[in-house]
Amino acid sequence: MQLIRDVGGLRAAIAAARQRGERVGFVPTMGALHAGHLSLLDRARSQCECVVLSIFVNPLQFAPTEDLAKYPRTEAEDLATAESHGTAIAFVPSVDVMYPGARVVSVVPETIADRWEGAIRPGHFAGVLTVVAKLFNLVQPDLAVFGQKDLQQATLIRALVRDLDVPLTLDIAPIVREPDGLAMSSRNRYLSEADRRAARALSGAIRDVHQAFTLERVDRASALLATGLRRLAEDAGVTVDYFSIVDRERLEPVDVARASDFVIVAARVGATRLLDNHRLGDPFPVPIS
Ligand code: AMP
Repeated sequence: MQLIRDVGGLRAAIAAARQRGERVGFVPTMGALHAGHLSLLDRARSQCECVVLSIFVNPLQFAPTEDLAKYPRTEAEDLATAESHGTAIAFVPSVDVMYPGARVVSVVPETIADRWEGAIRPGHFAGVLTVVAKLFNLVQPDLAVFGQKDLQQATLIRALVRDLDVPLTLDIAPIVREPDGLAMSSRNRYLSEADRRAARALSGAIRDVHQAFTLERVDRASALLATGLRRLAEDAGVTVDYFSIVDRERLEPVDVARASDFVIVAARVGATRLLDNHRLGDPFPVPIS
C-alpha cells in the first residue's frame, strides 16, 4: 500500500494504476476506521483492482461549535487495517493540501439539504459536497463507495453525481451494526458505559417501527412513529433531534409508509450525536428480540 499526502503523488499513482489497466475504486472517510468502513473497502476491492482510501477530517463540514478538534484520529492503526483489506493507495492530505488558498467556488446543495442534518448543522452539506467533489476530481475513480449510515449525505452525493454528470458509478453500502443493533460509528468510542446502553434505543426504535410495519401491517406514519418514540423515551439519557419516516428521493416526511421509505433518527446520547436509519421492506439485520 502506498501512503500519499500530496496531490502530485496521488495523480501519479492513479495514472500508474490506469496504465496497468486497473479499475479504480474510491472510499472517502474521516478515519478512525471501524468495521463499517472496512465493508466499504471490501466492496470496492471486489469490483476494482486499485482501491483508494482517503482519510481527511474536513474542517469545512464542521461548525465552529462542533467536535473538529476532538474528532478521533488513529492514523497508524487505520493504515494497518486498510492495508490488510486490500487498499492500494491511502491518500491522507493535510488541510493545507486540500485547501491551499482562498476558495471562491463551493458546491452548495438545494433545499433537500436544509432539513434533518442540514437544519441542525447549517452549511454541513456544502462542506461535504465541496470536499467530495474535490476528491472525485483528484482520484477520478470508476467506482465510489459510501455508506447508507449517512443517508442524507448519500442522497445528496447521488444528486451531485447526477446533476453535475460526474463520470463514476456510486455504490451505497448497507449499515454495519454491533451485535446489539447499534450502528457502527467513529463517534461510538465517545460513549460511556451508560451512554452505550442508552444508545441501543436508536436501533431499538427503528426495529420497533420495522416490526409494526412488517408483522402488524401498520402503515400510518404517526402510529409507527409513536411505537418507536416509546422506546426512545425509555432512557432519560437520549435526546431525540428527529425521528421520522421519509420518502427515499427527497427525504420528505410521509403520512402513509411504504416499502422503500426510510425510518430516520438522530439523537444525542450524553455529549455524542448518533444517527441511524433503515429502509422499510428490507430485513432488519439484527434479530428482533
Ligand atoms: P466517515 O468516516 O464517518 O465520514 O464515514 C465514511 C464512510 O463510511 C461514509 O460513506 C459513511 O456513510 C460510511 N459508514 C460510516 N459508518 C458506517 C456503518 N456503520 N456501516 C456502513 N458504512 C458506514
